Amino acid sequence: MIDRPSESSGERPAIGVGLLGCGNVGSALVRLLRSRTEEIRRRLGTALELRAVAVRNLSKDREAPLEGIDLTRDAESVIDRPDVHVVVELIGGIEPARALLRRALEAGKPVVTANKELLANVGAELFDLAESAGVDLLFEAAVGGAIPIVRPLRESLAAERVRRITGIVNGTTNYVLTRMAEEGASYEEALGEAQGRGYAERDPTADVEGYDAAAKIAILASIAFGGKVVAGDVYREGISGITQADMAFAERLGYVVKLLAIAEAVGSGAGREVSVRVHPAMVPKRHPLAAVRGSHNAVFVEGEAVGELMFFGRGAGGMPTAGAVLGDLVDAASNLLRGSASSVGRLVPVRVRAIDELVSEYYLNLAVVDRPGVLAKVAAVFGRHGVSIRSMEQEGLGDEARLVFITHLAREADMQATVAELRHLDVVRSVGSLLRVVGEEDAPDLLVAGGAL
Ligand code: NAP
Repeated sequence: MIDRPSESSGERPAIGVGLLGCGNVGSALVRLLRSRTEEIRRRLGTALELRAVAVRNLSKDREAPLEGIDLTRDAESVIDRPDVHVVVELIGGIEPARALLRRALEAGKPVVTANKELLANVGAELFDLAESAGVDLLFEAAVGGAIPIVRPLRESLAAERVRRITGIVNGTTNYVLTRMAEEGASYEEALGEAQGRGYAERDPTADVEGYDAAAKIAILASIAFGGKVVAGDVYREGISGITQADMAFAERLGYVVKLLAIAEAVGSGAGREVSVRVHPAMVPKRHPLAAVRGSHNAVFVEGEAVGELMFFGRGAGGMPTAGAVLGDLVDAASNLLRGSASSVGRLVPVRVRAIDELVSEYYLNLAVVDRPGVLAKVAAVFGRHGVSIRSMEQEGLGDEARLVFITHLAREADMQATVAELRHLDVVRSVGSLLRVVGEEDAPDLLVAGGAL
């Protein structure tokens, strides 16, 4: 039962908050709630009061003012308290977060979460539950940390036909790629530096292999296209194969290398699909995403009516993320006071386009033996698979030469077949990176003709 005190005192009754998890983001949220008391009261016409906090380890020191607040290991008891009206989940992972969120929503209590893993895997189930219960499930901080992107997609662009979302949504990989490009660092050096600065985990797999970005783009694709897109639907490549040679050629050819998370609506009518992918890409220096350096994030949205929009900021960090959580919390409290709730609607099944069907321009870097006739042999392989070459650069390296190609638009399947044949060509010593070129021009058959998929 929810305890709703009467308004006899004149001021509206305080809204009670229950917090599940008090780590990096949770502690920052507790500090923010304490320091923003007045701003929140002005905005809501009442106070937001933290009533109870659930953690795993009760004896841990926390950088948060928790005096007078009930600290417990029993997260369910926090949700069940009658004086807790809104639940904030900052535990992370799928279980027990999923069961706890279900419990809160089933009890009619709005939930705020920053849990990308949860939403990218079982988001549709939780959105349905929130919809049936008529309560908020808000998650601005789950994608892009402090950057407002979820609310603009849900609300400002609610009736927009979004064509494509292209994001730099992982600060660790953007930091590593920026150091490689600007300081000439190797991948290993740049990653070590990121770990030293606390931008990368000791096990960086989730970031460098693109899993984190895949979860985020699955969430953005779901909201933008109203479809059930889960992390497992996202085609994914990481940045661990990017070399200094790729960086040097990118610079010479007028590009920067970025790990991009892309969701786009493809095809039209009954053939409408969504393409969702995470991979490193060559981005022209003049594209707004090329200017996103270091650990910053940005999301570039292209819509039929609104044109191009870009959202930029801090994609992670305890305090920036807590800032976004607090915004959701105030929103949920305000909706609760008004007796309303925002909605993402019910997500419908969508067809996800296979990566083989992608149409893109490509960058390919090859080491070949340096003797006459080699270029003709290599070019013939491209020709056999219908891939036409837009530009080529050659660099001598002793008895070896490096050839760098940029293609015209080609199908992924044809490009992969080209690479497979090149690997077996006698004059090719090694096949280096194959990177998609993004942001140069639109592939004509990728234009969308409808709204939700
Ligand atoms: P964190 O530092 O690992 O904190 C997790 C908290 O959950 C800890 O306080 C932990 O308790 C508590 N916890 C774990 N299992 C629990 C259980 N069964 N019952 C109750 N409490 C439990 O994580 P974080 O960095 O704050 O991240 C929280 C969420 O925000 C995650 O979903 C993450 O993906 C998301 N997020 C984080 C960032 C960021 O920059 N950190 C950015 C965007 C989104 P103990 O403290 O006792 O161990």
